[in-house]
Amino acid sequence: MSPTAGEVLGAGARLAAEAARFAALGWMRGTSGNLSEVVSRDPLRLAVTASGLDKGELSAADLAVVGPAGDPVEVEGIAPLRPSAEAGLHARVAALTGAGAVVHVHTLSAVVAGAHWPGGVRLRDLETLKGIGRGAHDDEVLVPVIPNSQDMAELGDRFEAAYDPGVPAVIVASHGLYAWGDDLLRARHVTECVDWLLAYRIATR
Ligand SMILES: [Zn+2]
Repeated sequence: MSPTAGEVLGAGARLAAEAARFAALGWMRGTSGNLSEVVSRDPLRLAVTASGLDKGELSAADLAVVGPAGDPVEVEGIAPLRPSAEAGLHARVAALTGAGAVVHVHTLSAVVAGAHWPGGVRLRDLETLKGIGRGAHDDEVLVPVIPNSQDMAELGDRFEAAYDPGVPAVIVASHGLYAWGDDLLRARHVTECVDWLLAYRIATR
């Protein structure tokens, strides 16, 4: 069933609060980055933060609703705003991983790590790995790195080719990080832990 305006605005309020939090961390500079929440699974519909707005100052209505290809979808009672082109990758992530929420931020750690390790960032024997659902000991994790593209279909194909179901994040080289979880809170925690893990790896290389 298609989502109602109430469901979409509820998601919008959560996205705005979450975006303000990430903006305060300096992870959504300018108008960069975007967050999304799945508001319907069949057909797939995502509420995603609107393009071109300061992510520290969003209101509940500052969102777009998109379908599986990131194309805008009309919902009665919702003023249609322009989705970011990156909404297409949010939808691919949600479709492939089953995630309920996706975070995309331009963290410095992701871009630096992607430059150092274009084949993927290896992590092991760190307590914080538990924060992304992995073991603190003897569990090697490879965070995939994919080349950047302005073509979301191409970027989506690269993501699918690199996707490891055991790793809830991907680095887009020279660009930023995508991370996801069952809901926004989980996606936030994964994002925070991945940022810490990448910063640690860079600091100790
Ligand atoms: Zn971006």
